[in-house]
Parts: sequence; C-alpha cells; structure tokens
Amino acid sequence: MKKIQMVDLQGQYSKIKDVVDSSIAEVMESAAFINGPKVHQFQKNLEDYLGVKHVIPCANGTDALQIAMMGLGLKPGDEVITADFTFAATVEVIALLQLTPVLVDVDPVTFNIDVEAIKKAITPKTKAIVPVHLFGLPAEMDAIMALAKEHDLYVIEDNAQAIGASYTHNDGSKTKAGVIGHVASTSFFPSKNLGCYGDGGAIFTNDDDLAHKIRGIVNHGMYERYHHDVVGVNSRLDSMQAAVLDAKLPNLDTYNTARRRAARQYNEAFKDHPNITTPTGLENGDSSDDHVFHQYTLNLEGVDRDALVSHLQEKNIPCGVYYPIPLHRQKAYKDERYNEADFKVTNELVTSVISLPMHTELDDEQINYITDTVLNFINGNN
Ligand SMILES: *Cc1c(COP(=O)(O)O)cnc(C)c1O
Repeated sequence: MKKIQMVDLQGQYSKIKDVVDSSIAEVMESAAFINGPKVHQFQKNLEDYLGVKHVIPCANGTDALQIAMMGLGLKPGDEVITADFTFAATVEVIALLQLTPVLVDVDPVTFNIDVEAIKKAITPKTKAIVPVHLFGLPAEMDAIMALAKEHDLYVIEDNAQAIGASYTHNDGSKTKAGVIGHVASTSFFPSKNLGCYGDGGAIFTNDDDLAHKIRGIVNHGMYERYHHDVVGVNSRLDSMQAAVLDAKLPNLDTYNTARRRAARQYNEAFKDHPNITTPTGLENGDSSDDHVFHQYTLNLEGVDRDALVSHLQEKNIPCGVYYPIPLHRQKAYKDERYNEADFKVTNELVTSVISLPMHTELDDEQINYITDTVLNFINGNN
C-alpha cells in the first residue's frame, strides 16, 4: 500500500507534471514574474469558471480577507460577526483592522455559522457578516443574505475551503460559493482544493466599484502610477503561482469529484455506527458539487478522540483535529462580553471532531485500511 498522507501533493503533481512544468517554463522564459500574462489569463479563466465579474488575485487567503474588508471601507469599532469554529485567519484580519470581532456559535450538523446566533449578535454597530464555508460546505447563504439585507450589512464569504462548491438556494437554483455575498476571499495554499506551489489568494466580487477599489488597494493604493489615493498594501499573486493555478484549474471539478468519491466511501463504512456522525452533503451524488470536502470530518460521541488520534498515528494514518480550541478561548481573541453558554456547539466540537486523510489521490486500499483501523479502535478490537 502506498504511504497514506493527509494531502498527497506529490501524487497529484506526478499526473500533471508536463502541463504544470511547461506553464512554469513559459513564465521563466517571458521573465514577466509579477503581473505577467499568466496572472491575467488565470484571473480570466477563474472568472469564467465561477461565473463572477471580477477576480482580483492577491498574495494569500488572509490578505484576501483583509483587503475585502478594506475595500468595503469598514472602520475601527465596526462589529463583524463570524464563526467561532474556523481557522484563525478569519478573525485575525478583523482584529488587525481594529474592527470588533463578534464570534458566534456554529451548527452541530453542518459545522457552519449558526444563523440564529448571528441574529442574536446583531447590534447597531454591526457592519458585516463573514460566513466561512467550512470544510468545503457552503454556509446557509439565503438566510444570511436575507438577514444582511434586513440590517443593511455586508456579507464577506470566506471561501478558502470551498472553491468549486455550489450553494443550492431555497428555490432550487445553484450559485458557486464565493459569488453570493458582496465579496469573497479564497486561498490557494497548496493543500486547498485549488492549491498552488507556494502562497496565493484571490478576492471575488460582482460589484464594479468595489472591484476597482480593491485593484488599487492590492497595489499600494495606486490607481494611476505613483498616485496613491488610498492606503493600500502590496499583495500580489506572482506569475509562477498563477502558472501552476492556470494549469490546475481545468482539473478542479475532477479533483472535487475525487474528494467526494473518497468521502462517500468513508460515509458508507461508518454509516449507522452509534458513535460516529458522518458529514452531510453527499445526498445528490458524486458529480454534484454541494460539498467539496476540503476536509472529511467525523463527529464522535462516546469515543476517546485523542486516544484514537494516537492510535491512528501508530498505524501510520495521519489525521487532524480542525480545530482544537474555539477562537473565543484563544488568548488573542478573548473578550469579556463572551458567555460560555453561547458557544455550546463549538465547545463540544473541539473535543469530538477528527479529520481523516482527504485528497485527490486516495485509493480503495488506503480508504479501506483507514476505515478498518478507525472501526476496530472504536469497536474495541484493535
Ligand atoms: C486557509 C484559510 C485561510 C487563509 O488562507 P492563507 O492563504 O493561508 O492565508 C482563511 N480562512 C480559512 C477558512 C482558511 O481555511
């Protein structure tokens, strides 16, 4: 059996080596390393893929979030509501811009931000909501957009984990995640569903004015050379990374299908087990894009999760705990206004979730070995 990895980027590269290498070689030969034609080409191709008017590439997913918030003109003291159960980048940039992060609980089934909790957290100072499409499953966007409209709030989708996923609206129509809110951010970190070979990110929006503003912000606040109209940043996707991404973009749907296929095999093995809750999002078949499984995460009950983690490590099965500490309990983001009783779900999930290997190269033998090892441990015959 091939060695099991959490993410198998070497295995993936070996299959697309020719096209990636020649795309990178084009950049080297052109020496257009910054803002070269590859960046523009990738931007256009991603706009077409997503069905969005503007993609603005930038240096990473954290910058993308920050720049989106700068573009919206959020001011110190403005309250921004986001999920307690996510990667720290989401709340980090809110704090960095001296906005006030307001963390709220998540839903126990989808792990996404709880709409009722958002409702309760809205105050006259609230200016924006940042739903995170956690693990590849879009948040409840119809309800979030309705709330935002009612209270005149911006919605910034953190789409770092769900590129290629679609959200099904209440009327049955579908929109790609990241094209529903006023603006969205994504990350091309190597392990993300569309990853480059270094750092990268992008901002999406259908709003022409906001797009124009953001294009200046990513480039030192310049709209005309050496005229700095606003305080900006230097955040660029370099041409080398764009070359990798443009070579990989045509495979994104195939990659997401491979992830869903692996998720289905996991779900089948764990189905109806009294101690295991498997993720939702596969109801519409492998070729649907309701959930793109950036992570495959089980919720355990009555199982010593940390002992299972150690056991899997002994059996050479890497796994992850995303995330082990709620953001509201992190030193950097503690706030006396928070009440533990408001974070019941997150406080529970941090003790009960486990993410299994998930990538595009998993084979049946590996998946069977992983599911057998997990089940043997939980059933007590390891
Ligand atoms: C990865 C990630 C980010 C940050 O992306 P970087 O490119 O690593 O800066 C932000 N939010 C979420 C939810 C992420 O998973």
